[in-house]
Amino acid sequence: MSRKPVIAGNWKMHNLQQEAIDLTNGIMQELKSEDKALLPEVIIAPTFTSLYAANKALKDCGCGKVRLAAQNCYYETKGAFTGECSVEMLKDTGCEYIIIGHSERRQYFGETDEMVNKKAKSILNNGLVPIICCGESLEQREAGITDYHIASQITKALRDLTKEEVSKSIIAYEPIWAIGTGKTCDSVEANRVIAMIRNVVKGLYDTDTANSIRILYGGSVKPATIKEQMAQSDIDGALVGGASLTADSFAQIVKGAICNSCV
Ligand code: PEP
Repeated sequence: MSRKPVIAGNWKMHNLQQEAIDLTNGIMQELKSEDKALLPEVIIAPTFTSLYAANKALKDCGCGKVRLAAQNCYYETKGAFTGECSVEMLKDTGCEYIIIGHSERRQYFGETDEMVNKKAKSILNNGLVPIICCGESLEQREAGITDYHIASQITKALRDLTKEEVSKSIIAYEPIWAIGTGKTCDSVEANRVIAMIRNVVKGLYDTDTANSIRILYGGSVKPATIKEQMAQSDIDGALVGGASLTADSFAQIVKGAICNSCV
């Protein structure tokens, strides 16, 4: 089964509004001559404060090659939740995807597997796509519990979701020790873990669902690494942090995921 590749840029806490507009326009300029049909699904995830501006830049261009994501959401629909944004609010700014369970949110903001599951449900109920992050720490890897830990994160994140909902969702496998460190996980090992995640989905649902869900690799992805990563059987794309902050490097990664060049 062929799955459309996805390249998503997580801008983290970077870029004022004008910088976000400039970066959005820069990415679209870099992709201008590319055939839209061959491009992967290209996603950018600015901060909440730049979503409106980035969305306006995307609409003004009208090329439809780049889509918008938020980096977080809250699962309640409205109410006294100071500082939070509901999925409906993010949809209203043009978001089609929301990243949840990123290791930085788990580490610094106490996001739990149960919260990730509630967020996934709220995102899907609103017709958006969750990008569900999972990944092991260096200590967990050295203790030999990588697969156990990730299987547990995924099982809890997907709890009570239907197979139709899971088929539409995206998972990002991001070993914590590879995020922002410049140390990319070996492609064969990343592919092994991603195949293991697909097998967990198969066990929870069925073969079709496991073959439909897109599973990305994230952790120090660079223009120089993407082709080898995309050549793996189970890696469907990348969640990119640092290298998504300049139009040139992000566009090179996007171009590296064009199916024709995945060899
Ligand atoms: C990320 O933040 O999701 C990430 C993978 O970051 P980086 O590419 O900088 O390692």
